[in-house]
Amino acid sequence: MKKPDCIFCKIIEGTVPSTKVFENDRVIGFKDLHPAAQIHFLFVHKNHTRDVNEMMVLEPSQIGDIFSAIRELTLKDGLQDNGFRVVTNTGQHGGQTVFHTHFHVLGGEQLRGFN
Ligand code: 5GP
Ligand code: ZN
Repeated sequence: MKKPDCIFCKIIEGTVPSTKVFENDRVIGFKDLHPAAQIHFLFVHKNHTRDVNEMMVLEPSQIGDIFSAIRELTLKDGLQDNGFRVVTNTGQHGGQTVFHTHFHVLGGEQLRGFN
């Protein structure tokens, strides 16, 4: 299910360009436009939900689809050798700016800790 005014739905449809790093029938991964680390991908499910809370209510199996995709890509890319970080920002305090549930995958360098 797509939402007409959603930028990530447009990326999924191909009407907005992106650099894809992963795709299967349920999930795509693409490069973030403004990378916050040497490697910065976004993983999204092809069926639109607004955030991880809505995903867990409406389509909880999507979380497995997305983490399977992340595992597949990070294995293939060698990111699993040195590790990586997965982040999902939720709502205003979480700093979410795009309201199609997405998981940031960050790596390729030593990432700073939270404290
Ligand atoms: P959020 O702040 O919602 O957690 O993350 C949204 C992310 O989407 C940001 O890191 C931003 O750089 C990225 N982004 C926003 N618009 C586009 C776009 O049109 N293409 C791509 N590839 N990334 C985008
Ligand atoms: Zn969407």
